[in-house]
Amino acid sequence: MNRNSVWICHVRPRTSTGPAASARAPTIPRTSNTSPGTKNNQLTTWTDKLDAENITPYRSGMTGCFRCPVNCRPLNDMKMPGDRYGSGDGPEYVTLGKFGPNIGVDRIESVIRLNNICNDLGFDTASTGSSIAWAMELYQRGLITKQHTQGLELTWGNADAVEQFD
Ligand code: SF4
Repeated sequence: MNRNSVWICHVRPRTSTGPAASARAPTIPRTSNTSPGTKNNQLTTWTDKLDAENITPYRSGMTGCFRCPVNCRPLNDMKMPGDRYGSGDGPEYVTLGKFGPNIGVDRIESVIRLNNICNDLGFDTASTGSSIAWAMELYQRGLITKQHTQGLELTWGNADAVEQFD
């Protein structure tokens, strides 16, 4: 790596323990949603309610690809008869982050439901969650309004509004 690169200049003076630790160092510039006056949802909305043991009651089993003995895909079932999104595959780790703290949601049931909706639509949960978080920040800053969201309150944590996206 070029000794004068931006990466080296920013990181080396502050840490000797490698990129993982340096990324958490408070002196490293962070993403725009940590700016003063805005809600840093990554730091403020994580909750124990999203911990793995709270998914366990909804884990109905595991499945996998054809003839694979590993069966690494977790299944979910929230026991909601007649609800198309009450059961499905996942969620996996990244989905939990994207539809949890990344958009301010603290209900495991909402995370599972958004996961199932994305799977049904064939959407990638990681990029969908990131895009929604970006839209929420734009809404928070007043750069988009209800006029742009067809009347939806796109506030952090409003999983009901996310479900109504067209
Ligand atoms: S380990 Fe998982 S993803 Fe890989 S083949 Fe088996 S079931 Fe499929």
